[in-house]
Amino acid sequence: MKIICIGRNYVEHIKELGNEVNGEPVIFMKPDSALFRQRDVFYIPDWTNEVHYEAEIVVRINRVGKNIAAEFATKYFAEFTLGIDFTARDVQSKLKSKGLPWEKAKGFDQSAVLGDFLEVADYDLDNLNFELHKNGTPVQQGNTDMMLYPIPTIIEHTSEYFTLKIGDLIFTGTPAGVGPVAGGDL
Ligand code: ZN
Repeated sequence: MKIICIGRNYVEHIKELGNEVNGEPVIFMKPDSALFRQRDVFYIPDWTNEVHYEAEIVVRINRVGKNIAAEFATKYFAEFTLGIDFTARDVQSKLKSKGLPWEKAKGFDQSAVLGDFLEVADYDLDNLNFELHKNGTPVQQGNTDMMLYPIPTIIEHTSEYFTLKIGDLIFTGTPAGVGPVAGGDL
């Protein structure tokens, strides 16, 4: 399976990192070794001093598809969850400034955290509030209706380039409020 991630999908988050709005979704990937197993302990790698949380809606693909039209995209997933796209921001900034790929900063072990999966049919995924709490304090709040590229558009665009397979995960981008984690954070 592969983990496809969308960058710069919420305007306020694009602004907080000083990025520009792109004309199409920004796509990157994490390897399957990035998956964080629930109830593991998360370790901050020793090669970074700035690991950021990014809370994101994640959908799990349940049909093989290529060149999927947006109008049919909802037939390709039935479950979603809230995940964290952990990012070594210091490493990413260095790579970005040199125009180099981000994989080290985004695809390291344990960097793809998943909650329990929920049935899409039980929720309104076009208008869904979600938030991340750090040590009991809300740090990120978003609603899926704030996405620049809604999930069907993401699926249409990514499946133009990559065949989607059963079990693939799509991280759909993070709203504003990203920030660092430290040892002992919950
Ligand atoms: Zn992200």
